[in-house]
Amino acid sequence: MSEAKSVGSFDYVIVGAGSAGCVLANRLTQDPSVKVLLLEAGGPDKYWWIHVPVGMPYLLGNKELDWCYQSEPEPYADNRVTPVPRGKTLGGSSSINAMCYIRGHSRDYDIWRQLGNVGWSWDDLLPYFKRIENHPRGGSHEAHGAGGELHVSDNNFRWEIIEAWKQAAIDYGIPETEDFNRGENEGVAYFQGTIRNGKRWSAAQAFLHPVMSRPNLRVITGAQAKGLVFAGKRVTGVEFWQGDELCSADASGEVILAAGAIGSPQLLQVSGVGPAHILQQQGIAVRHELPGVGENMQDHWQIRNTFKVENTVTMNQWALNPLRKYAMGAYYLATGKGPMASQPPQLCAFTRSDPGQDTPNLQYHVSPASSDRFGGPLHAHPGFSCGIAVVRPQSIGHTHIKSADPRVAPSILHNFLKEPEAQRVAIDAIRLTRRIVDGGPALKRFNPVEIYPGPKVNTDEEVLAYCRQTVLTVFHQSCSCKMGTDNDRMAVVDERLRVRGLEGLRVVDASIMPNVVSGNTNAPTMMIAEKGAEMIKADRKAGATRKAA
Ligand SMILES: Cc1cc2nc3c(=O)[nH]c(=O)nc-3n(C[C@H](O)[C@H](O)[C@H](O)COP(=O)(O)OP(=O)(O)OC[C@H]3O[C@@H](n4cnc5c(N)ncnc54)[C@H](O)[C@@H]3O)c2cc1C
Repeated sequence: MSEAKSVGSFDYVIVGAGSAGCVLANRLTQDPSVKVLLLEAGGPDKYWWIHVPVGMPYLLGNKELDWCYQSEPEPYADNRVTPVPRGKTLGGSSSINAMCYIRGHSRDYDIWRQLGNVGWSWDDLLPYFKRIENHPRGGSHEAHGAGGELHVSDNNFRWEIIEAWKQAAIDYGIPETEDFNRGENEGVAYFQGTIRNGKRWSAAQAFLHPVMSRPNLRVITGAQAKGLVFAGKRVTGVEFWQGDELCSADASGEVILAAGAIGSPQLLQVSGVGPAHILQQQGIAVRHELPGVGENMQDHWQIRNTFKVENTVTMNQWALNPLRKYAMGAYYLATGKGPMASQPPQLCAFTRSDPGQDTPNLQYHVSPASSDRFGGPLHAHPGFSCGIAVVRPQSIGHTHIKSADPRVAPSILHNFLKEPEAQRVAIDAIRLTRRIVDGGPALKRFNPVEIYPGPKVNTDEEVLAYCRQTVLTVFHQSCSCKMGTDNDRMAVVDERLRVRGLEGLRVVDASIMPNVVSGNTNAPTMMIAEKGAEMIKADRKAGATRKAA
Protein backbone atom coordinates (compact mmCIF):
# COMPACT_ATOMS: atom_id res chain seq x y z
CA MET A 1 0.00 0.00 0.00
CA SER A 2 1.29 3.43 -0.92
CA GLU A 3 1.60 5.91 1.95
CA ALA A 4 1.04 8.82 -0.40
CA LYS A 5 -1.63 11.38 0.45
CA SER A 6 -4.30 11.31 -2.26
CA VAL A 7 -5.26 14.64 -3.84
CA GLY A 8 -8.20 13.02 -5.62
CA SER A 9 -9.26 11.48 -8.87
CA PHE A 10 -9.20 13.25 -12.22
CA ASP A 11 -10.04 12.37 -15.79
CA TYR A 12 -6.58 13.50 -16.88
CA VAL A 13 -3.38 14.13 -14.96
CA ILE A 14 -0.89 16.21 -16.95
CA VAL A 15 2.73 16.23 -15.77
CA GLY A 16 4.56 19.44 -16.67
CA ALA A 17 3.13 22.94 -17.26
CA GLY A 18 5.47 23.88 -20.09
CA SER A 19 4.82 24.77 -23.72
CA ALA A 20 2.81 21.60 -24.27
CA GLY A 21 1.28 21.20 -20.80
CA CYS A 22 -0.31 24.67 -20.79
CA VAL A 23 -1.98 24.07 -24.18
CA LEU A 24 -3.22 20.65 -23.03
CA ALA A 25 -4.64 22.01 -19.76
CA ASN A 26 -6.50 24.72 -21.64
CA ARG A 27 -7.99 22.47 -24.31
CA LEU A 28 -8.91 19.51 -22.09
CA THR A 29 -10.80 21.72 -19.62
CA GLN A 30 -12.92 23.35 -22.34
CA ASP A 31 -15.47 20.65 -21.53
CA PRO A 32 -16.61 21.55 -17.99
CA SER A 33 -17.42 17.90 -17.23
CA VAL A 34 -13.76 16.87 -17.64
CA LYS A 35 -11.59 17.18 -14.51
CA VAL A 36 -7.89 17.88 -15.06
CA LEU A 37 -4.92 18.04 -12.71
CA LEU A 38 -1.79 19.84 -13.92
CA LEU A 39 1.38 19.15 -11.94
CA GLU A 40 4.38 21.47 -12.27
CA ALA A 41 7.68 20.93 -10.46
CA GLY A 42 8.57 24.63 -10.59
CA GLY A 43 6.83 27.58 -8.97
CA PRO A 44 4.52 30.28 -10.32
CA ASP A 45 5.91 32.52 -13.06
CA LYS A 46 5.97 35.72 -11.00
CA TYR A 47 9.60 36.83 -11.37
CA TRP A 48 9.63 40.22 -13.17
CA TRP A 49 12.44 39.38 -15.59
CA ILE A 50 10.49 36.42 -17.03
CA HIS A 51 8.15 38.90 -18.64
CA VAL A 52 10.68 41.40 -19.99
CA PRO A 53 11.94 40.16 -23.36
CA VAL A 54 15.52 41.26 -22.78
CA GLY A 55 15.56 39.51 -19.37
CA MET A 56 16.84 36.11 -20.50
CA PRO A 57 20.29 36.52 -18.85
CA TYR A 58 18.51 36.75 -15.47
CA LEU A 59 16.67 33.49 -16.10
CA LEU A 60 19.35 31.09 -17.33
CA GLY A 61 21.22 29.53 -14.43
CA ASN A 62 18.60 30.80 -11.96
CA LYS A 63 17.81 27.69 -9.92
CA GLU A 64 14.30 28.95 -9.11
CA LEU A 65 13.38 28.86 -12.80
CA ASP A 66 15.89 26.63 -14.59
CA TRP A 67 16.64 22.95 -13.98
CA CYS A 68 20.29 23.89 -14.67
CA TYR A 69 21.15 20.49 -16.14
CA GLN A 70 24.62 19.82 -17.46
CA SER A 71 25.66 17.55 -20.26
CA GLU A 72 28.07 14.68 -19.84
CA PRO A 73 31.58 15.56 -21.03
CA GLU A 74 30.97 15.88 -24.77
CA PRO A 75 33.51 13.55 -26.41
CA TYR A 76 33.75 15.48 -29.70
CA ALA A 77 33.77 18.91 -28.04
CA ASP A 78 36.98 18.64 -26.04
CA ASN A 79 35.16 16.68 -23.32
CA ARG A 80 33.49 19.85 -22.14
CA VAL A 81 30.52 19.68 -19.78
CA THR A 82 28.02 22.10 -21.31
CA PRO A 83 24.99 23.78 -19.72
CA VAL A 84 21.51 22.47 -20.57
CA PRO A 85 18.94 25.01 -19.35
CA ARG A 86 15.27 23.87 -19.15
CA GLY A 87 12.43 25.94 -17.78
CA LYS A 88 11.11 25.05 -14.31
CA THR A 89 8.11 27.26 -13.71
CA LEU A 90 4.64 27.76 -15.16
CA GLY A 91 5.24 28.00 -18.90
CA GLY A 92 8.28 25.71 -18.66
CA SER A 93 10.94 26.54 -21.22
CA SER A 94 8.61 29.04 -22.93
CA SER A 95 9.06 31.18 -19.79
CA ILE A 96 12.85 31.32 -20.12
CA ASN A 97 13.37 31.00 -23.87
CA ALA A 98 14.45 33.57 -26.46
CA MET A 99 10.88 34.03 -27.82
CA CYS A 100 11.88 33.45 -31.47
CA TYR A 101 8.76 32.33 -33.30
CA ILE A 102 9.69 29.80 -35.96
CA ARG A 103 7.81 26.76 -37.22
CA GLY A 104 10.51 24.95 -39.21
CA HIS A 105 10.50 23.84 -42.84
CA SER A 106 7.50 22.08 -44.43
CA ARG A 107 9.87 19.30 -45.48
CA ASP A 108 10.59 18.45 -41.83
CA TYR A 109 6.97 17.50 -41.25
CA ASP A 110 6.59 15.79 -44.61
CA ILE A 111 9.46 13.51 -43.55
CA TRP A 112 7.64 12.72 -40.29
CA ARG A 113 4.69 11.66 -42.45
CA GLN A 114 6.90 9.64 -44.79
CA LEU A 115 8.18 7.75 -41.77
CA GLY A 116 4.63 6.43 -41.45
CA ASN A 117 3.10 8.93 -39.03
CA VAL A 118 -0.33 9.46 -40.53
CA GLY A 119 -1.68 12.98 -39.94
CA TRP A 120 1.71 14.65 -39.38
CA SER A 121 2.59 16.19 -42.78
CA TRP A 122 2.94 19.97 -43.15
CA ASP A 123 -0.47 20.20 -44.82
CA ASP A 124 -2.00 18.19 -41.99
CA LEU A 125 -0.40 20.37 -39.31
CA LEU A 126 -0.79 23.88 -40.74
CA PRO A 127 -4.39 24.19 -39.40
CA TYR A 128 -3.11 23.53 -35.84
CA PHE A 129 -0.36 26.14 -36.14
CA LYS A 130 -2.96 28.62 -37.41
CA ARG A 131 -5.55 27.78 -34.78
CA ILE A 132 -3.36 28.64 -31.79
CA GLU A 133 -2.03 31.86 -33.33
CA ASN A 134 -2.87 35.52 -33.22
CA HIS A 135 -0.44 36.65 -35.88
CA PRO A 136 0.05 40.13 -37.36
CA ARG A 137 -0.46 38.66 -40.84
CA GLY A 138 -3.36 36.45 -39.68
CA GLY A 139 -6.96 36.44 -40.80
CA SER A 140 -7.30 35.75 -44.47
CA HIS A 141 -3.61 34.81 -44.83
CA GLU A 142 -3.21 31.25 -46.07
CA ALA A 143 -0.44 30.43 -43.57
CA HIS A 144 -1.41 32.46 -40.51
CA GLY A 145 -4.18 32.57 -37.97
CA ALA A 146 -5.92 35.34 -36.05
CA GLY A 147 -7.81 35.17 -32.80
CA GLY A 148 -5.77 32.35 -31.23
CA GLU A 149 -4.26 32.68 -27.75
CA LEU A 150 -0.63 32.78 -28.88
CA HIS A 151 0.25 36.37 -29.72
CA VAL A 152 3.06 36.76 -32.23
CA SER A 153 4.55 40.11 -33.09
CA ASP A 154 7.01 41.52 -35.58
CA ASN A 155 10.21 43.00 -34.24
CA ASN A 156 9.96 46.76 -34.76
CA PHE A 157 13.19 47.90 -33.12
CA ARG A 158 16.06 48.69 -35.50
CA TRP A 159 19.77 48.69 -34.67
CA GLU A 160 22.00 50.31 -37.28
CA ILE A 161 24.45 47.40 -37.15
CA ILE A 162 21.72 44.80 -37.59
CA GLU A 163 20.23 46.66 -40.56
CA ALA A 164 23.70 46.69 -42.11
CA TRP A 165 24.15 42.94 -41.47
CA LYS A 166 20.83 42.28 -43.13
CA GLN A 167 21.91 44.27 -46.18
CA ALA A 168 25.24 42.41 -46.21
CA ALA A 169 23.38 39.09 -46.25
CA ILE A 170 21.16 40.26 -49.10
CA ASP A 171 24.20 41.50 -51.03
CA TYR A 172 25.80 38.11 -50.48
CA GLY A 173 22.78 36.42 -52.07
CA ILE A 174 20.52 35.40 -49.18
CA PRO A 175 17.09 36.62 -50.28
CA GLU A 176 15.08 38.92 -48.04
CA THR A 177 11.94 37.16 -46.86
CA GLU A 178 8.74 38.60 -45.49
CA ASP A 179 7.99 35.55 -43.36
CA PHE A 180 9.91 32.42 -42.30
CA ASN A 181 6.76 30.59 -41.27
CA ARG A 182 5.00 29.67 -44.48
CA GLY A 183 6.70 26.32 -45.00
CA GLU A 184 9.70 27.59 -46.99
CA ASN A 185 12.03 29.24 -44.49
CA GLU A 186 14.99 30.36 -46.61
CA GLY A 187 15.97 34.03 -46.39
CA VAL A 188 16.87 36.87 -44.06
CA ALA A 189 14.45 38.95 -41.95
CA TYR A 190 13.80 40.14 -38.44
CA PHE A 191 12.52 37.47 -36.07
CA GLN A 192 8.85 37.26 -35.24
CA GLY A 193 8.48 36.89 -31.48
CA THR A 194 6.09 35.40 -28.95
CA ILE A 195 5.78 38.86 -27.45
CA ARG A 196 2.67 40.91 -26.75
CA ASN A 197 2.79 44.66 -26.08
CA GLY A 198 6.47 44.42 -25.10
CA LYS A 199 6.02 41.43 -22.77
CA ARG A 200 6.98 37.75 -23.12
CA TRP A 201 3.99 35.74 -24.24
CA SER A 202 4.79 32.34 -22.78
CA ALA A 203 2.57 29.28 -23.04
CA ALA A 204 1.44 30.06 -19.48
CA GLN A 205 0.42 33.63 -20.38
CA ALA A 206 -1.31 32.47 -23.53
CA PHE A 207 -3.03 29.27 -22.48
CA LEU A 208 -2.92 28.75 -18.71
CA HIS A 209 -3.48 31.98 -16.79
CA PRO A 210 -6.67 32.86 -18.70
CA VAL A 211 -8.26 29.53 -17.63
CA MET A 212 -6.80 29.06 -14.14
CA SER A 213 -10.17 29.84 -12.57
CA ARG A 214 -12.01 27.04 -14.39
CA PRO A 215 -13.51 24.87 -11.63
CA ASN A 216 -12.55 21.68 -13.47
CA LEU A 217 -8.82 22.57 -13.58
CA ARG A 218 -6.51 22.14 -10.62
CA VAL A 219 -2.93 23.34 -10.95
CA ILE A 220 -0.36 22.35 -8.34
CA THR A 221 3.03 24.05 -8.49
CA GLY A 222 6.07 22.85 -6.59
CA ALA A 223 4.85 19.33 -7.43
CA GLN A 224 7.56 17.06 -8.85
CA ALA A 225 6.28 13.76 -10.23
CA LYS A 226 8.00 10.76 -8.65
CA GLY A 227 6.62 8.04 -10.88
CA LEU A 228 3.67 6.46 -12.59
CA VAL A 229 1.20 4.21 -10.80
CA PHE A 230 0.20 1.04 -12.66
CA ALA A 231 -2.47 -1.63 -12.58
CA GLY A 232 -0.86 -4.22 -14.84
CA LYS A 233 -0.15 -2.51 -18.16
CA ARG A 234 -2.56 0.32 -17.42
CA VAL A 235 -1.38 3.60 -15.92
CA THR A 236 -3.82 4.70 -13.24
CA GLY A 237 -2.17 7.70 -11.66
CA VAL A 238 0.92 9.59 -10.60
CA GLU A 239 2.86 9.91 -7.37
CA PHE A 240 4.48 13.25 -6.72
CA TRP A 241 6.19 15.25 -4.03
CA GLN A 242 4.72 18.50 -2.91
CA GLY A 243 7.57 19.88 -0.88
CA ASP A 244 8.61 16.90 1.23
CA GLU A 245 5.20 15.32 1.25
CA LEU A 246 4.49 12.34 -1.00
CA CYS A 247 1.11 12.69 -2.72
CA SER A 248 -0.80 10.78 -5.34
CA ALA A 249 -3.46 11.53 -7.94
CA ASP A 250 -5.66 9.01 -9.74
CA ALA A 251 -6.36 9.32 -13.44
CA SER A 252 -9.54 7.58 -14.52
CA GLY A 253 -8.84 8.56 -18.14
CA GLU A 254 -5.16 9.08 -18.89
CA VAL A 255 -1.87 10.36 -17.58
CA ILE A 256 -0.24 12.72 -20.07
CA LEU A 257 3.48 13.34 -19.82
CA ALA A 258 4.39 16.86 -20.92
CA ALA A 259 7.57 17.12 -18.86
CA GLY A 260 9.75 17.90 -21.88
CA ALA A 261 12.54 16.11 -23.71
CA ILE A 262 14.51 15.49 -20.51
CA GLY A 263 11.68 15.16 -17.96
CA SER A 264 9.36 12.80 -19.87
CA PRO A 265 11.89 10.04 -20.63
CA GLN A 266 13.26 10.38 -17.10
CA LEU A 267 9.82 9.78 -15.59
CA LEU A 268 9.21 6.81 -17.87
CA GLN A 269 12.58 5.29 -16.98
CA VAL A 270 12.19 5.66 -13.19
CA SER A 271 8.75 4.08 -13.57
CA GLY A 272 10.24 0.97 -15.21
CA VAL A 273 9.48 1.89 -18.82
CA GLY A 274 12.50 2.08 -21.09
CA PRO A 275 15.63 0.25 -22.25
CA ALA A 276 16.06 -2.77 -19.93
CA HIS A 277 19.81 -2.34 -19.41
CA ILE A 278 19.45 1.32 -18.37
CA LEU A 279 16.73 0.48 -15.84
CA GLN A 280 18.59 -2.55 -14.47
CA GLN A 281 21.77 -0.51 -13.96
CA GLN A 282 19.75 1.56 -11.47
CA GLY A 283 18.08 -1.45 -9.84
CA ILE A 284 14.68 -0.71 -11.37
CA ALA A 285 12.44 -3.63 -12.28
CA VAL A 286 11.46 -3.56 -15.95
CA ARG A 287 7.72 -3.11 -16.10
CA HIS A 288 7.59 -2.53 -19.83
CA GLU A 289 10.60 -2.66 -22.11
CA LEU A 290 10.70 0.18 -24.63
CA PRO A 291 14.23 0.53 -25.99
CA GLY A 292 13.67 3.99 -27.48
CA VAL A 293 12.89 5.85 -24.24
CA GLY A 294 15.62 8.50 -23.84
CA GLU A 295 17.38 7.51 -27.08
CA ASN A 296 17.41 9.49 -30.37
CA MET A 297 17.80 12.76 -28.44
CA GLN A 298 18.41 15.56 -30.90
CA ASP A 299 19.25 19.22 -30.52
CA HIS A 300 20.49 22.04 -32.65
CA TRP A 301 23.96 23.19 -31.75
CA GLN A 302 25.47 26.62 -32.09
CA ILE A 303 28.81 28.06 -33.00
CA ARG A 304 29.53 31.75 -33.17
CA ASN A 305 31.42 34.50 -34.98
CA THR A 306 31.84 37.62 -32.82
CA PHE A 307 32.86 41.05 -34.15
CA LYS A 308 34.09 44.35 -32.80
CA VAL A 309 32.77 47.40 -34.68
CA GLU A 310 33.20 51.19 -34.74
CA ASN A 311 31.10 54.26 -35.57
CA THR A 312 27.91 52.93 -34.04
CA VAL A 313 26.31 52.09 -30.74
CA THR A 314 25.24 48.54 -29.88
CA MET A 315 23.61 46.90 -26.87
CA ASN A 316 27.06 46.76 -25.25
CA GLN A 317 27.00 50.54 -24.79
CA TRP A 318 23.34 50.68 -23.75
CA ALA A 319 23.77 48.00 -21.10
CA LEU A 320 27.12 49.16 -19.70
CA ASN A 321 26.55 52.91 -19.53
CA PRO A 322 24.46 53.71 -16.39
CA LEU A 323 22.73 56.72 -17.96
CA ARG A 324 21.80 54.87 -21.11
CA LYS A 325 20.71 51.85 -19.08
CA TYR A 326 18.47 54.06 -16.97
CA ALA A 327 17.01 55.72 -20.07
CA MET A 328 16.38 52.33 -21.70
CA GLY A 329 14.60 51.07 -18.56
CA ALA A 330 12.53 54.23 -18.14
CA TYR A 331 11.51 54.18 -21.80
CA TYR A 332 10.48 50.53 -21.52
CA LEU A 333 8.45 51.14 -18.36
CA ALA A 334 6.72 54.15 -19.89
CA THR A 335 6.00 52.74 -23.35
CA GLY A 336 6.62 48.97 -23.39
CA LYS A 337 8.95 49.63 -26.32
CA GLY A 338 12.64 50.03 -27.11
CA PRO A 339 15.62 47.66 -26.87
CA MET A 340 14.22 45.90 -23.79
CA ALA A 341 11.01 44.95 -25.59
CA SER A 342 12.49 42.67 -28.23
CA GLN A 343 14.11 39.27 -27.94
CA PRO A 344 17.92 39.01 -27.58
CA PRO A 345 18.63 37.81 -31.14
CA GLN A 346 17.06 40.33 -33.51
CA LEU A 347 17.71 39.05 -36.97
CA CYS A 348 17.35 35.59 -38.45
CA ALA A 349 18.70 34.08 -41.64
CA PHE A 350 18.10 30.57 -42.92
CA THR A 351 20.64 29.51 -45.50
CA ARG A 352 22.85 26.62 -46.62
CA SER A 353 26.37 25.84 -45.54
CA ASP A 354 27.00 24.73 -49.13
CA PRO A 355 24.85 24.75 -52.27
CA GLY A 356 24.53 20.95 -52.13
CA GLN A 357 22.22 21.17 -49.12
CA ASP A 358 18.65 20.36 -50.09
CA THR A 359 17.00 22.87 -47.76
CA PRO A 360 18.60 25.48 -45.45
CA ASN A 361 20.72 23.76 -42.81
CA LEU A 362 21.95 26.89 -40.99
CA GLN A 363 19.97 29.38 -38.95
CA TYR A 364 21.67 32.66 -38.03
CA HIS A 365 20.66 34.41 -34.82
CA VAL A 366 22.26 37.87 -35.11
CA SER A 367 22.49 40.02 -31.97
CA PRO A 368 23.61 43.64 -31.50
CA ALA A 369 25.85 42.58 -28.60
CA SER A 370 29.16 40.81 -28.09
CA SER A 371 30.94 38.98 -25.29
CA ASP A 372 33.77 36.50 -24.87
CA ARG A 373 31.35 33.62 -24.37
CA PHE A 374 27.62 33.02 -24.68
CA GLY A 375 25.92 34.76 -21.75
CA GLY A 376 29.20 36.32 -20.55
CA PRO A 377 29.78 40.01 -19.67
CA LEU A 378 29.36 42.32 -22.64
CA HIS A 379 32.39 43.94 -24.25
CA ALA A 380 33.07 47.62 -23.53
CA HIS A 381 33.38 48.36 -27.26
CA PRO A 382 30.52 48.13 -29.77
CA GLY A 383 30.06 44.66 -31.21
CA PHE A 384 27.71 42.11 -32.70
CA SER A 385 27.57 38.36 -32.78
CA CYS A 386 26.30 35.75 -35.18
CA GLY A 387 25.09 32.62 -33.42
CA ILE A 388 24.83 29.93 -36.08
CA ALA A 389 22.47 27.08 -35.29
CA VAL A 390 23.00 23.93 -37.29
CA VAL A 391 19.40 22.92 -37.87
CA ARG A 392 19.92 19.50 -39.45
CA PRO A 393 22.35 18.40 -36.80
CA GLN A 394 23.26 14.76 -37.65
CA SER A 395 24.48 14.29 -34.07
CA ILE A 396 22.20 12.00 -32.06
CA GLY A 397 22.48 11.74 -28.29
CA HIS A 398 20.53 10.34 -25.40
CA THR A 399 19.25 10.98 -21.91
CA HIS A 400 19.51 8.19 -19.30
CA ILE A 401 18.67 8.12 -15.63
CA LYS A 402 21.62 8.01 -13.25
CA SER A 403 19.48 7.05 -10.26
CA ALA A 404 16.11 5.51 -9.46
CA ASP A 405 15.38 8.80 -7.68
CA PRO A 406 13.97 11.29 -10.21
CA ARG A 407 15.36 14.17 -8.13
CA VAL A 408 18.81 13.19 -9.40
CA ALA A 409 19.51 14.83 -12.77
CA PRO A 410 19.80 12.38 -15.65
CA SER A 411 22.77 11.93 -17.93
CA ILE A 412 22.46 14.06 -21.09
CA LEU A 413 24.76 13.54 -24.06
CA HIS A 414 24.46 15.42 -27.36
CA ASN A 415 27.47 14.17 -29.30
CA PHE A 416 27.98 17.61 -30.85
CA LEU A 417 30.34 17.45 -33.85
CA LYS A 418 30.59 13.69 -33.82
CA GLU A 419 29.91 13.08 -37.50
CA PRO A 420 32.38 14.15 -40.22
CA GLU A 421 29.44 15.82 -42.00
CA ALA A 422 28.72 17.89 -38.87
CA GLN A 423 32.36 18.92 -38.68
CA ARG A 424 32.31 19.98 -42.35
CA VAL A 425 29.14 22.03 -41.82
CA ALA A 426 30.70 23.78 -38.80
CA ILE A 427 33.80 24.79 -40.74
CA ASP A 428 31.75 25.96 -43.72
CA ALA A 429 29.42 27.96 -41.47
CA ILE A 430 32.21 29.95 -39.82
CA ARG A 431 33.66 30.71 -43.25
CA LEU A 432 30.25 31.68 -44.63
CA THR A 433 29.83 34.30 -41.90
CA ARG A 434 33.19 35.76 -42.82
CA ARG A 435 32.17 36.00 -46.47
CA ILE A 436 28.90 37.73 -45.59
CA VAL A 437 30.59 40.24 -43.27
CA ASP A 438 33.65 40.94 -45.42
CA GLY A 439 31.99 40.68 -48.82
CA GLY A 440 29.96 43.75 -49.71
CA PRO A 441 29.93 47.44 -48.78
CA ALA A 442 27.09 47.28 -46.23
CA LEU A 443 29.21 46.79 -43.12
CA LYS A 444 32.38 48.58 -44.32
CA ARG A 445 31.83 51.86 -42.45
CA PHE A 446 31.65 49.96 -39.16
CA ASN A 447 35.06 48.39 -39.81
CA PRO A 448 34.13 44.96 -38.40
CA VAL A 449 37.03 43.05 -36.86
CA GLU A 450 36.42 39.43 -36.00
CA ILE A 451 37.26 38.70 -32.37
CA TYR A 452 36.13 35.05 -32.36
CA PRO A 453 37.32 32.80 -33.88
CA GLY A 454 39.69 35.67 -34.84
CA PRO A 455 42.16 36.24 -37.68
CA LYS A 456 44.62 33.58 -36.51
CA VAL A 457 42.06 30.80 -36.99
CA ASN A 458 42.12 29.89 -40.66
CA THR A 459 42.81 26.31 -41.66
CA ASP A 460 40.10 23.65 -41.47
CA GLU A 461 41.87 22.16 -38.44
CA GLU A 462 42.02 25.53 -36.65
CA VAL A 463 38.38 26.35 -37.34
CA LEU A 464 37.23 22.90 -36.22
CA ALA A 465 39.35 23.16 -33.07
CA TYR A 466 37.63 26.50 -32.29
CA CYS A 467 34.21 24.91 -32.84
CA ARG A 468 35.07 22.02 -30.52
CA GLN A 469 36.16 24.51 -27.84
CA THR A 470 33.00 26.58 -28.04
CA VAL A 471 30.04 24.57 -29.43
CA LEU A 472 26.91 24.79 -27.27
CA THR A 473 23.28 23.74 -27.27
CA VAL A 474 20.65 25.92 -28.96
CA PHE A 475 18.25 24.62 -26.27
CA HIS A 476 16.15 22.55 -28.67
CA GLN A 477 16.46 19.13 -27.00
CA SER A 478 13.76 16.92 -28.49
CA CYS A 479 13.00 13.49 -30.03
CA SER A 480 13.81 11.44 -26.89
CA CYS A 481 10.41 9.63 -26.93
CA LYS A 482 9.97 9.59 -30.66
CA MET A 483 6.74 8.91 -32.51
CA GLY A 484 6.80 6.03 -34.99
CA THR A 485 5.13 2.97 -36.43
CA ASP A 486 5.05 -0.68 -35.38
CA ASN A 487 8.02 -1.33 -37.68
CA ASP A 488 10.26 0.99 -35.67
CA ARG A 489 11.33 -0.72 -32.45
CA MET A 490 12.77 2.57 -31.17
CA ALA A 491 9.39 4.33 -31.42
CA VAL A 492 8.01 5.23 -27.98
CA VAL A 493 4.61 6.63 -28.99
CA ASP A 494 2.31 5.94 -31.93
CA GLU A 495 0.86 8.61 -34.19
CA ARG A 496 -1.86 9.31 -31.59
CA LEU A 497 0.94 9.86 -29.05
CA ARG A 498 -0.05 6.79 -26.98
CA VAL A 499 2.86 5.04 -25.32
CA ARG A 500 3.36 1.76 -27.14
CA GLY A 501 2.23 -1.32 -25.26
CA LEU A 502 0.70 0.54 -22.31
CA GLU A 503 -2.79 1.87 -21.68
CA GLY A 504 -3.84 5.20 -20.26
CA LEU A 505 -0.54 6.94 -21.02
CA ARG A 506 0.56 9.45 -23.65
CA VAL A 507 3.56 11.67 -24.14
CA VAL A 508 2.72 15.06 -25.63
CA ASP A 509 5.72 17.41 -25.80
CA ALA A 510 8.91 18.12 -27.75
CA SER A 511 10.19 14.61 -27.06
CA ILE A 512 7.78 12.99 -29.54
CA MET A 513 9.35 14.58 -32.63
CA PRO A 514 10.80 11.80 -34.79
CA ASN A 515 13.46 14.25 -36.04
CA VAL A 516 14.08 17.77 -34.82
CA VAL A 517 12.52 20.41 -37.08
CA SER A 518 14.77 22.93 -38.84
CA GLY A 519 14.10 25.84 -36.53
CA ASN A 520 13.23 26.79 -32.97
CA THR A 521 11.01 24.30 -31.20
CA ASN A 522 8.52 26.24 -29.06
CA ALA A 523 5.85 26.81 -31.73
CA PRO A 524 6.14 23.21 -33.02
CA THR A 525 5.71 21.91 -29.45
CA MET A 526 2.55 23.97 -28.90
CA MET A 527 1.26 22.72 -32.25
CA ILE A 528 1.95 19.12 -31.12
CA ALA A 529 -0.08 19.78 -27.96
CA GLU A 530 -2.96 21.35 -29.90
CA LYS A 531 -3.15 18.28 -32.11
CA GLY A 532 -2.57 15.96 -29.14
CA ALA A 533 -5.48 17.52 -27.22
CA GLU A 534 -7.75 17.10 -30.21
CA MET A 535 -6.85 13.39 -30.45
CA ILE A 536 -7.35 12.87 -26.71
CA LYS A 537 -10.80 14.44 -26.90
CA ALA A 538 -11.72 12.38 -29.98
CA ASP A 539 -10.57 9.15 -28.31
CA ARG A 540 -12.58 9.99 -25.18
CA LYS A 541 -15.66 10.55 -27.30
CA ALA A 542 -15.11 7.32 -29.23
CA GLY A 543 -14.62 5.44 -25.92
CA ALA A 544 -17.87 6.86 -24.52
CA THR A 545 -19.71 5.91 -27.73
CA ARG A 546 -18.28 2.38 -27.55
CA LYS A 547 -19.38 2.00 -23.92
CA ALA A 548 -22.89 3.23 -24.75
CA ALA A 549 -23.24 0.80 -27.68
C1 LIG B 1 17.11 28.94 -22.89
C2 LIG B 1 16.16 28.48 -23.95
C3 LIG B 1 15.97 29.26 -25.09
C4 LIG B 1 15.10 28.83 -26.09
N1 LIG B 1 14.79 29.68 -27.11
C5 LIG B 1 13.78 29.35 -27.95
C6 LIG B 1 13.27 30.29 -28.89
O1 LIG B 1 13.69 31.45 -28.94
N2 LIG B 1 12.27 29.90 -29.70
C7 LIG B 1 11.75 28.64 -29.67
O2 LIG B 1 10.87 28.33 -30.47
N3 LIG B 1 12.22 27.73 -28.79
C8 LIG B 1 13.18 28.07 -27.91
N4 LIG B 1 13.58 27.18 -26.96
C9 LIG B 1 13.02 25.82 -26.98
C10 LIG B 1 11.57 25.74 -26.54
O3 LIG B 1 11.29 26.68 -25.53
C11 LIG B 1 11.30 24.30 -26.07
O4 LIG B 1 11.56 23.39 -27.12
C12 LIG B 1 9.86 24.10 -25.63
O5 LIG B 1 9.49 25.05 -24.66
C13 LIG B 1 9.69 22.68 -25.09
O6 LIG B 1 8.39 22.51 -24.61
P1 LIG B 1 8.00 21.24 -23.75
O7 LIG B 1 6.58 21.39 -23.39
O8 LIG B 1 8.43 20.02 -24.47
O9 LIG B 1 8.92 21.31 -22.44
P2 LIG B 1 9.04 22.47 -21.37
O10 LIG B 1 8.47 23.74 -21.87
O11 LIG B 1 10.46 22.47 -20.92
O12 LIG B 1 8.08 21.99 -20.20
C14 LIG B 1 8.31 20.89 -19.38
C15 LIG B 1 7.73 21.23 -18.01
O13 LIG B 1 7.67 20.06 -17.23
C16 LIG B 1 8.12 20.34 -15.92
N5 LIG B 1 8.61 19.07 -15.37
C17 LIG B 1 9.68 18.34 -15.78
N6 LIG B 1 9.80 17.23 -15.03
C18 LIG B 1 8.77 17.25 -14.15
C19 LIG B 1 8.34 16.37 -13.13
N7 LIG B 1 9.00 15.24 -12.84
N8 LIG B 1 7.24 16.72 -12.40
C20 LIG B 1 6.54 17.86 -12.66
N9 LIG B 1 6.92 18.73 -13.63
C21 LIG B 1 8.02 18.42 -14.37
C22 LIG B 1 9.20 21.38 -16.13
O14 LIG B 1 9.47 22.10 -14.95
C23 LIG B 1 8.59 22.23 -17.23
O15 LIG B 1 7.78 23.26 -16.73
C24 LIG B 1 14.45 27.57 -25.96
C25 LIG B 1 14.62 26.79 -24.81
C26 LIG B 1 15.46 27.25 -23.80
C27 LIG B 1 15.63 26.40 -22.57
